[in-house]
Amino acid sequence: MPKSKSGLTTEIELIDFDADFFKTHLVQLGRAMRYIPIQDHVRLILSEPKNEIMVNFPVKMDDGKYKLFKGYRIQHNNILGPYKGGIRFHHEVTLGEVKALASIMTYKCSLLDIPFGGAKGGIALTPSEHSISEIENITRRFTHTLGNNIGPEYDIPAPDVGTNAQIMVWMMDTYMNIQNAAHKNAQRAIVTGKSITSGGSLGRAKATGQGVVFAIQEWAKENNFELKGSTFAVQGFGNVGSNAAKILNKLGAKCVAVQDHTGSIVNLEGLDGLELTAHVKEIGGVSGFKEQKAASADDFWSVECDIFIPAALELQITKEVAEQLKCRLVAEGANGPTTLAGEKAMLKKNIEVIPDLMANAGGVVVSYFEWVQNKRSERWKEEEIDEKLLYLMQKAYREMRTLAKEKNIDNRTAAYAVALNRINESYVERGVFP
Ligand code: NAD
Repeated sequence: MPKSKSGLTTEIELIDFDADFFKTHLVQLGRAMRYIPIQDHVRLILSEPKNEIMVNFPVKMDDGKYKLFKGYRIQHNNILGPYKGGIRFHHEVTLGEVKALASIMTYKCSLLDIPFGGAKGGIALTPSEHSISEIENITRRFTHTLGNNIGPEYDIPAPDVGTNAQIMVWMMDTYMNIQNAAHKNAQRAIVTGKSITSGGSLGRAKATGQGVVFAIQEWAKENNFELKGSTFAVQGFGNVGSNAAKILNKLGAKCVAVQDHTGSIVNLEGLDGLELTAHVKEIGGVSGFKEQKAASADDFWSVECDIFIPAALELQITKEVAEQLKCRLVAEGANGPTTLAGEKAMLKKNIEVIPDLMANAGGVVVSYFEWVQNKRSERWKEEEIDEKLLYLMQKAYREMRTLAKEKNIDNRTAAYAVALNRINESYVERGVFP
């Protein structure tokens, strides 16, 4: 077993790292670096974000009292284009989490060959504990505090866990209002994932779920697998999970289990994605859907299905969870849902993984299309967007699989290697100033 600098076996370190998202990500990245001739200085640059912005800002609550919030914007890398990545509102947001998410964005954009770098942001808060007006005020104050640390040619936020199109519109409006009046309208591209009325793109709301399904379809083609009549389970029934489920339903696949923060439901006869989405909108979670009995977490993880889609938070598929899974494919809708030990256990069981970089890239790709449309003052047709998304997803999938087969490595390592290669080439061509 290889020894690391600390003298511990890497295997022991893998287990130690399992609770640390950023370190987990660095180990995954480090594996990919073995397969491409990456320059030492590039390795060094990529090991930490370029900028780590942390802000503490006060907001007046509905009861008249002030509360102090901590917000993050981590800008990992911009060699390929402006920083790009979501804003998360969740009580577990930490610096380490946002660093990992920002770094993943750098490689995702590179793998998909779109001209963006990687960033992520967030505020540690529980959205359900705040009124709509408090969320608006928190969003606006955060945007104002970030000021020119973001910008349509510099760093472009988007929705992530706990945020949505409305929050993006408040960010856009706040940013526009702190600019010179004559330039206001040129700032619309400051965020993506906006509502259609405020300059969003058709197809953006479903884009990440659509991309997950496009990736699954590529896998199905490669494996002569018939999606019609197949079964799947989803963890997380928010933007990504619900859209992936609805699109898979349309292709004739049956959703047999869902879990979110309110609990788990299992139904081998199939759960209807559209109906479940309406229930979640009304109740706030999947629990209580059609008087469905609550299932245990073990029932959920061990449900027999063809495809499992994690679409909630990171580090969910641990070794113990992986050992329970009874599926052929895991398509990572969420970012970083698999621990190192979880991945090892899945590979041992021959469960194929389409990693986050590849599987959930649909969101940032259509965000790129939204940004281009804003800059050109254009509105593209939804079919055109889906077609362009499919093209980029298929191209990246092919590149990932070609390298995986050529080097006999897993998909995650291959996806990172393809992405790293592009970034490395750019650094080699440009050099490092001064
Ligand atoms: P969302 O806020 O719309 O939904 C999150 C879902 O996760 C909800 O159903 C929630 O109940 C569930 N959840 C939260 N905590 C949970 C827990 N402890 N156990 C089980 N379920 C839990 O968020 P989203 O935008 O759908 O994002 C989900 C994942 O997809 C995240 O990892 C995000 O980074 C990733 N992602 C999102 C996008 C996007 O465009 N929204 C793009 C790429 C990747």
